[in-house]
Amino acid sequence: MDVTTQYIQRANKIYRRSFEVIPVCFDLKGRAAGMYRVKKRERVIRYNPYIFAKYFDDNVAETVPHEVAHYITEKLYGVGRVRPHGFEWGEIMGAFGVSSKRVSHRYDMKGIPVRVHQRFAYRCGCTAHNVTSRRHKQMQNGIATFLCRRCGEAITPALATF
Ligand SMILES: [Zn+2]
Ligand SMILES: [Zn+2]
Repeated sequence: MDVTTQYIQRANKIYRRSFEVIPVCFDLKGRAAGMYRVKKRERVIRYNPYIFAKYFDDNVAETVPHEVAHYITEKLYGVGRVRPHGFEWGEIMGAFGVSSKRVSHRYDMKGIPVRVHQRFAYRCGCTAHNVTSRRHKQMQNGIATFLCRRCGEAITPALATF
């Protein structure tokens, strides 16, 4: 959180502006290390606590300036006016003295919880299907029927076989 504030203050010096310090949340899950979000007038930087805990130095060195640069890009150029990792964002990263070459990371996620979507086993006349919980519920409630694209049969819950 301190380093996030420090980068915002650095941007203030570099661009002679007074970008305000925005909230930081450690509530990001999944494979992303960080995220900058602007919704209406609320701006927030979110970090993944698991990835930060496991690769702290890396994330302080790269993810923090990366997300602050998204915030500054949005303040300077507006929402959706420039590409997320385009020239303008890269220039801010350069001003921070951080390489903009790496826009995503490849961390070993061992020990880090990642969301696994539950799937349900179904089958048709020709093969097995894994359906999302959303579709599973729709079929259970009789709201929808899904047909196999290959054989055209309706897919039904697969019976467990032992
Ligand atoms: Zn990014
Ligand atoms: Zn089929």
